[in-house]
Amino acid sequence: MKKPPVYTFWLVTGSQGLYGEETLAQVDRDSRVIAEHLDGDASIPGRVVFKPVVKSSDEIQAVCEAASLDPLCAGVITWMHTFSPSKMWIAGLRMLTKPLLQLNTQFNREIPWDSIDMDFMNLTQSAHGDREHGFILTRLRKNRPVVVGYWQDETTKRRIGAWARAAIGLAEGKKLKIARFGDNMREVAVTEGDKVEAQIRLGWQVNGYSLGELADAVQAVSEADIEVQMRAYAAAYDQATGQPDAIRYQARIEVALERFLAAGGFAGFTTTFENLAGLEQLPGLAVQDLMAKGYGFGAEGDWKMAALLAVMKKVSAGLDGGTSFMEDYTYHLEQGNERVLGAHMLEVCPSIADGRPRIEVHPLGIGGKADPARLVFSGRTGPAILVSLIDMGNRFRLIVNDVLAEKPLRAMPKLPIAGVMWKPLPDLMRASEAWMQAGGAHHSIMSYALTIEHMRTLAQMLDFELVHIHAGTDVDELAEKLMLQDLVWKLKG
Ligand code: MN
Repeated sequence: MKKPPVYTFWLVTGSQGLYGEETLAQVDRDSRVIAEHLDGDASIPGRVVFKPVVKSSDEIQAVCEAASLDPLCAGVITWMHTFSPSKMWIAGLRMLTKPLLQLNTQFNREIPWDSIDMDFMNLTQSAHGDREHGFILTRLRKNRPVVVGYWQDETTKRRIGAWARAAIGLAEGKKLKIARFGDNMREVAVTEGDKVEAQIRLGWQVNGYSLGELADAVQAVSEADIEVQMRAYAAAYDQATGQPDAIRYQARIEVALERFLAAGGFAGFTTTFENLAGLEQLPGLAVQDLMAKGYGFGAEGDWKMAALLAVMKKVSAGLDGGTSFMEDYTYHLEQGNERVLGAHMLEVCPSIADGRPRIEVHPLGIGGKADPARLVFSGRTGPAILVSLIDMGNRFRLIVNDVLAEKPLRAMPKLPIAGVMWKPLPDLMRASEAWMQAGGAHHSIMSYALTIEHMRTLAQMLDFELVHIHAGTDVDELAEKLMLQDLVWKLKG
């Protein structure tokens, strides 16, 4: 699939004319050093670009306009080395269309006790310059992270990196295209939603295509193309089946699907087992392998999950972990040892597999088609997040639950799925109660690579309502918060 471009993040340092040439030249030099340091740090994706210090309303407008028009600029970092009166910033900030991060750092880590004088104080005043800047950003209702800390500190850079990743998700979302094969699973509510509103707010373009078109593409795949795909399967997965033809059919589907997606510039797709006209198997292995290549996917027509997975894969590019379509399937309610077994009929991404997945062929009780080939594996262990996205009618709500993935308590020899067992935080009962009070879906995206920090920033940029269920969640307090948030979103209109 098409790689995202290398995005840039502009470090814009504010000042004013009254300090004189010498001080302003020093501000420029210091700012360049910080930009180069951030640019060289692996925790920040893309490139951090130094911009000359801005000292007037005209210069601020010019840099904000340029950032807004540059398709590769994904965000602007503002920092006030000195004092920069904020009325100068109003016009520029009002026209800025890119995400903004307010960095409150200082070129010197420590006060130079023996040499500090008034010149140093005048040069080094982010402590109050950034407060003036913070006021105008808040006065203009600019949602942004405020990152406070020394610019070489890991925490500071990690936070800038999380914001930059979310900004890439926003930029990629603005051109995101999702193909739906078949419509929604009949009568299902949570997978529906307002596609026009999603396109207005997020840029996500979601359109339907007939199964006939896909079936024709599947038929058109040559034996030679299937061979190439079979070799790729053999390189990545073990084959534990005596039915190679079933695998070859999934290879055929995958080649056809990938051609279709590439030709149309799609970043993700949906299928539904209720509409498989012209296909012999429910796409299983094919979908799993496409997710591993970075495509978003949602089952049963779930376009919100397909789009969110596509975005989250771009946000997490290069990070350890893995990110997949997921579904809460079955509970284990042994007292004190409660767990969720998550899986889907077939479509879980091998990026979250613990070890090398196996290709197996088994009957599927649903869908009425031939036995599909699928990847079978157990998910990796460790902290992860589950993310749901629902349409509340007047806004989208993003629900994030911190979970701890663990090895299944026992072997499940008769269950040939790609599955993960997890303990939701604070525990299964409270997490599930909170999740359902918030309206969270059965479908979700599970990520071991991303955290609430990425999702909170992304929610802020995409204007999603955010509900976070975590180790400290109190269900009664959350219910009150949901009620108040409902009111807030009504007022926002
Ligand atoms: Mn499902």
